Amino acid sequence: MHLILLGAPGAGKGTQGALLAEHLEVPKIATGDILRDAVREGTELGQSAKRFMDAGELVPDEVILGLVRDALAAPAAANGAIFDGFPRTIPQAEALSEILMELGRDLDVVVVIDVADDVIVQRMSGRRTDPETGKVYHLSFNPPPAAVVDRLVQRDDDRENTVRRRLAVYRETTAPLVDFYVERGLPIEHVRGDRPIEEVQAELVQRIGR
Ligand code: ADP
Ligand code: ADP
Repeated sequence: MHLILLGAPGAGKGTQGALLAEHLEVPKIATGDILRDAVREGTELGQSAKRFMDAGELVPDEVILGLVRDALAAPAAANGAIFDGFPRTIPQAEALSEILMELGRDLDVVVVIDVADDVIVQRMSGRRTDPETGKVYHLSFNPPPAAVVDRLVQRDDDRENTVRRRLAVYRETTAPLVDFYVERGLPIEHVRGDRPIEEVQAELVQRIGR
């Protein structure tokens, strides 16, 4: 199963992707997570990516494609993957099709999580990550257990100005991917993301089957 999760920043791609990865028994390939790991480790790639991320801009396609190529070639992804935060541009989508073709694989479905902008802003301001487990919580909507609350961190790019820029980039550059995949005849599943996490998950599992 090769599944793409599309949706604005904060739509719930990471949250639903983690649950779906467990359910479908394939890894989640989240380019944002891979980039943040590189930033934390202070690698050259991390240092160059950080400037784009802090500005709310996209990291150049060639950087991202190298990361995805490696992740897909790993044994863990032999049976598929859930793509979270990738592709984000038409050239990335075209390159993904080529990479998959070289590997003799295909995309199965594109899931679009729809959420209104005012909900997004609330979600970003309360988003916190556990640096030890990588788990993502929300201070109000998905509260962390007391044992981890003191070590949670807020993402640098979840500040309001950066969020606004990221939303604009999503609309201009990433949202057109929905039509791109419609034109290619891929199944597209739209889900309303402004409902409790468990409800969104149940609907996704039901629609995607297995
Ligand atoms: P969110 O889940 O909130 O949409 P991500 O974690 O996916 O955010 O991405 C955070 C940042 O990392 C983006 O704003 C961008 O700078 C960079 N990034 C992540 N994935 C990609 C990608 N596929 N192409 C370009 N930049 C990316
Ligand atoms: P994305 O990966 O699309 O940027 P996340 O999965 O990181 O989004 O979710 C953004 C924030 O919203 C997180 O703090 C998460 O806990 C919270 N969240 C995710 N899904 C829901 C939901 N259905 N209802 C309320 N809050 C949610």
